[in-house]
Amino acid sequence: MNKLKVIAFDADDTLWVNEPYFQEVEKKFCEMMEDYHPQHTISRELLKIEIANLSLYGYGVKGYILSMIEAALHISGKTLSIEAIQKILELGKEMLEKPIELLDGVEEVLQQLQGKYRLVVATKGDLLDQERKLKKSGLEKYFHHIEIMSDKQEADYQKLIRHLDIAPEEFMMIGNSLKSDVLPVLKLGGIGVHVPYHTTWAHETVEHKVEHENFYQFAHANEVLAVL
Ligand SMILES: [Mg+2]
Repeated sequence: MNKLKVIAFDADDTLWVNEPYFQEVEKKFCEMMEDYHPQHTISRELLKIEIANLSLYGYGVKGYILSMIEAALHISGKTLSIEAIQKILELGKEMLEKPIELLDGVEEVLQQLQGKYRLVVATKGDLLDQERKLKKSGLEKYFHHIEIMSDKQEADYQKLIRHLDIAPEEFMMIGNSLKSDVLPVLKLGGIGVHVPYHTTWAHETVEHKVEHENFYQFAHANEVLAVL
């Protein structure tokens, strides 16, 4: 770990609460469309459309709103009322205005690491939304660099590591998603730290167990201090 120069943090469900807000809105959406299908069918339909749209819209609230409208049109056989579309837009705007709720240990770990390592945010999502959340969070001051990524695959991390002008073994990524925050970084030769959140978006879940010499798992982000 003595080579380590840069510690990158995922944002959503690593620094602050995110997924529960999506689930809350999904629940309202399913209730709204209940006349057409049972809620679990609607939920499955929405997920299918969201995933199909990822390559077009990317991650984040705006793409989610468009996917809800598309799912609603599909589910209703294009009989959806204008009022229902209005309601979906409102649900989306409410999401964008949610307060920022920091997760346990986050502020402490950033305070402790500040000045010792270059700290970076590496997140997916809408550019404007993530910038707004970072500002609202009060955490902006701890970071040297903010990277809003369109995806978090190996090639995306490779680009980031090159941009930071470091070698992969000098890079640590901390995040709640094994699939997006940990596995691609381990593959490149970096250090991957998994801090699971109690709930994960269905598209981000992975089944298998990770065993790797550069892999760590902690209940809270601040527990990483013990190995640095
Ligand atoms: Mg996350």
